Amino acid sequence: MPISRLVRDLPSTVPFVGPEALERAQGFPFALRLGANESPFGPAPEAIAAMRSATEESWMYADPEGWELRTALALRLGVGVGNLVLGAGIDDLLGLAVRVFCDPGDACATSLGGYPTFAYHVAGYGARLVTAPYRATATPGHGCTDLSALAEVAHDERARLVYVANPDNPSGTWHEAETVREFRDALPDDAVLLLDEAYAEFMESPSPTWHPEDEGVVRFRTFSKVHGLAGARIGYAVMPASIAREFEKVRLHFGINRVAMAGALASLASDHAARVVEETAIGRARLVAELGARGYVCLPSATNFVGLGAGSRERAEAIVAGLRARGVFVRKPAHPPLDGHVRVTVGTAPQIEAFLAAFDDLRA
Ligand SMILES: *Cc1c(COP(=O)(O)O)cnc(C)c1O
Repeated sequence: MPISRLVRDLPSTVPFVGPEALERAQGFPFALRLGANESPFGPAPEAIAAMRSATEESWMYADPEGWELRTALALRLGVGVGNLVLGAGIDDLLGLAVRVFCDPGDACATSLGGYPTFAYHVAGYGARLVTAPYRATATPGHGCTDLSALAEVAHDERARLVYVANPDNPSGTWHEAETVREFRDALPDDAVLLLDEAYAEFMESPSPTWHPEDEGVVRFRTFSKVHGLAGARIGYAVMPASIAREFEKVRLHFGINRVAMAGALASLASDHAARVVEETAIGRARLVAELGARGYVCLPSATNFVGLGAGSRERAEAIVAGLRARGVFVRKPAHPPLDGHVRVTVGTAPQIEAFLAAFDDLRA
């Protein structure tokens, strides 16, 4: 059968090999799932109840405009309903962004080793990825993402899109709001900043506020992390209304299921997320302190995970393999200069204990 040239020439790689595939390969299930930054605290009880009753309505398509959820989000964020586009998670929305903004061959800039789904969509829509390396070190509020190097690449390559996650994944580090705003101003006038704020709720310092009609930036948020709804697949993007209308031309209008929308709406009304943020900060401090006591320094983190410094790529790989052999799923950054780190999701208190026990067993 004839395959399009674009697809035929794509590499057969996926952004993430799932823990389920790893389990099938290794022949035993993971006891601790700390490799995908899913919320160990689960969804809000109110969200679970709302989703239960929504299952009975699953014979109906969901409202393709997602009006109720977008209205609730608009009120919360102080933007118009027309500034919001819903998607099946940020991963879905990133693909739409590349499709909306890029012609084949257009340059898209991001950090080398940054969130892989963006690179996946850039390739999948025939655009061209250009990168700047991360910086090896960070301080609180001044993260590993090298914003000046990214701005330079964006100018040199005349990038259409510049993707930055703030806080960043896989490093967990972050830049202060003012720095991110200055970064946007330093980009080429016709470049669009895709600002992935998957972990924004975990930040103590405020994320940058933009006027929703600001032409230069599209922001992405998700219910997968702090709201604990990763498996429900729902997220949203904030952008000028005129751009949202362009997204509407290519968006899969029935692509978000009713159950997910009901869960997201109930979660917004719950105080669960605030408690998750508190518990995560406590657990993260404990994990960092315990690892520090064992001689391991972590990168500063404003997320629900930490970047454990292993000293070298080889040692980081050995830790990932050793933990997996002990039933603990974690991941690590693939590219220098962050490839000597192991990324560990902050678990519940018992999960942190179990992680440390496995870690100590590995080092013994
Ligand atoms: C987890 C994560 C996502 C995925 O979000 P979904 O809404 O589940 O698709 C996107 N970006 C970053 C930086 C993430 O860490």
